[in-house]
Formats: sequence, C-alpha cells, structure tokens
Amino acid sequence: MHYPEPIAQLMESYMKLPGIGEKTAARLAFYTVNMQEEDVTRFAKSLISVKRDLQNCSICGNMTQNDPCDICEDKNRDQSVILVVEHTKDVISMEKMQDFKGLYHVLHGVLSPIEGTGPEDINIPVLIKRLQKDEVKEVILATNATVEGEATAMYLSRLIKPSGIKVTRLAHGLSIGSDIEYADEVTLLKAVEGRREM
Ligand SMILES: [Zn+2]
Repeated sequence: MHYPEPIAQLMESYMKLPGIGEKTAARLAFYTVNMQEEDVTRFAKSLISVKRDLQNCSICGNMTQNDPCDICEDKNRDQSVILVVEHTKDVISMEKMQDFKGLYHVLHGVLSPIEGTGPEDINIPVLIKRLQKDEVKEVILATNATVEGEATAMYLSRLIKPSGIKVTRLAHGLSIGSDIEYADEVTLLKAVEGRREM
C-alpha cells in the first residue's frame, strides 16, 4: 500500500517505538492527522525536549534537568546510604514509595559477558570514586533479580566490601526475574526493610 509521504515518514518514526508494527503505526499516523494542531505541536516539542533538556547527574547518574540532580542536592537526605539501581525508572519507583531517604546510584545497565558489557561500560567507575570520598556507610544493591542483575550485585559486593562499607541486597519478596519497575510500593518497601547483608 502506498501512503502519502508525510504519513509514511511519521509511520517510520512510530515503528521505531517498541512493540509498534506497521498496522499500529498507520493507525497512529492517521490519528495524528486528525489531532488538534496545538496538541500535535506540544507532542513534537516534548519529543525534542526529552532529548535536549535531560542529562545524567554527574554524581549519581540519575536522569535530570539540573546537574547535580535534586536528590543529590537535598541535604536532608541520608548521605550515608546509597541505593544502587539499574535504571532511572527504578529511582522513580523507589521515590513513589516515599520511604527511602538515602541517595541513589544509577548504573544504566548491568554486567553482561554475553553482550560484552563490562564494569567500564556502565556507571560503576563513578560509584567507586564516590565511595572513596563520600561518607557512605551502607550500599544497598537493588539491581533486578535476573541472572545479570544478580551477577552485577555479586561483582559490586566483592569490589566494595574490602573498604569496610556495609553491602546489602534487597530481600526477594521481589520474585526471581521480576523488575523493580513493576513492583508495587508495599512489595518494594518490604524488599528494602528485609534487605540482607552480602
Ligand atoms: Zn544525582
């Protein structure tokens, strides 16, 4: 089927999104044509803004508009505890719980020998530097309960423990293979409360 060029181009962009095939892309593209002009403009602006106005915090790696991020800048938070997560989305899940008052460190991935992801490829070197100069007493490893998440937690534990900092791992009320992103707040709270020393 031959689509008008602007539609074809828009479809091509929609198809770059996860889980969107040609049929859905066509439906979305034709829907967009019928949207209010101001809604379309706002949509286009927000697409550009998420790329242009966001950066990773130079301290914790969290996605932010200001560097350092609001969490790192908040002196009321417990500076002695750092919770290590895979992605910015995990920080948002943890913050929704409103119970964790320490700091974060976002790895932006996990170690994966199969995909060739080593410690230098994710935000580990910055974490190690951070632990050397900050007053950190505990590191909570909150990588997901997947094979790579567990391996990353083990690696970090071995790396950090010799420095005398307490290393803990989230309790797995989070079942094996489940992601922090999808855990509800009560489950997350229990996982943090029941964390065990590694
Ligand atoms: Zn930060």
